[in-house]
Amino acid sequence: MNHLRFSGLLVVAAAAALSACSQATPGLDAFRPATPAAACYDRATQPQTAVVDTHLHFRPFGGVAVPFDEVMGYLRDTGVRFVNVYGIGQMLPVDSPCTYYLDCPGTPVIPTLKNDFANANSLLANPPDGIHVTLSMTFPDLARPETVLAGIELLDTEYPGMFRWMGEVNLVKQALFPNGHEPVPHGVIAEWAPFMTVLRERGIPIAIHSDLGSEEEPTRYLPLMQAVLDRYPDNRIVWMHMGLSRELTTLPAAEHIAMMSAMLDRHPNLMLDITWRVIDDSYFSRADYQPLYVDFLNEYSERILPGTDFLASSDKDFEVYKSELEVTSRILAFVNDEAFRNIALGGNYFRLLGLDYEAPRVCPTVRVTGVSPLR
Ligand SMILES: [Zn+2]
Repeated sequence: MNHLRFSGLLVVAAAAALSACSQATPGLDAFRPATPAAACYDRATQPQTAVVDTHLHFRPFGGVAVPFDEVMGYLRDTGVRFVNVYGIGQMLPVDSPCTYYLDCPGTPVIPTLKNDFANANSLLANPPDGIHVTLSMTFPDLARPETVLAGIELLDTEYPGMFRWMGEVNLVKQALFPNGHEPVPHGVIAEWAPFMTVLRERGIPIAIHSDLGSEEEPTRYLPLMQAVLDRYPDNRIVWMHMGLSRELTTLPAAEHIAMMSAMLDRHPNLMLDITWRVIDDSYFSRADYQPLYVDFLNEYSERILPGTDFLASSDKDFEVYKSELEVTSRILAFVNDEAFRNIALGGNYFRLLGLDYEAPRVCPTVRVTGVSPLR
């Protein structure tokens, strides 16, 4: 009887220890290089969600934002340790009652510095504990490149050294067409040179939203992105959503992957952002597509950045963030350990920004070695 009770206690204690460990994403310090106590990351018991969110809009298109601190709490509670703080590339007018552009076709949305100021002020007022923040310039209007340098200079003056990323900026975003956005004219891309030089010199990546096309014309806008990549081969460019969108949910995976592979092969400084739940819904989660994308992510694992594309408008809450993190990370549960380390554990993000952090090793999978079959 005693023996049974004792072993029962042991089981309970072991289960408690396991569940304590199964919940834990390591804290920020565990990502410091050569941490003496660096433990390996156990994919069997630790979260399969990414520890880095490279694409998070802390500001809405209009209306009230979820407080900065509250969003930081969402990250802390879901094990996200690194974040790019985006505003939004454009805003509704201040007298508009809308919070989301799709609800207000006809109302113009215009690139502005307001959100970048708001984020910088929030960060100064409340630097978050346990989370590494990279502040992003979201103001640039790529169709008016002559205004971009002045914006960078203004942010340099007001917030010296604080902005280390640019984006999400729009080359072409079909969803915004009813709100006055048009594709950036081809000829204007050459005029980006002055600000692209500044970004290159500072090692600042630029994250570009550029739709591939629509269901009817899947590659209609591909030449725009190609023109940017051809003209600025030495800039670190991140292509948002791999060019996919709600307007393009039926491109066959094999075609899409072939196109992305060719672009990555041709442009060594290009990286792909796999954020936004629309991508999982229409591509990654399809049973016939999933193995193709898993192979693709494994093959190009050093070129991929994860994130949610969460938009902190006041109608969103913790549950929405948590679910977006889970959905956008779902594919990562299937990639190999090297890819998981590069993508989900932050390896690519740290290298891209030259951050003094290192993704933990993934613990080796314990495999039961089989007995040789009798001959
Ligand atoms: Zn976005």
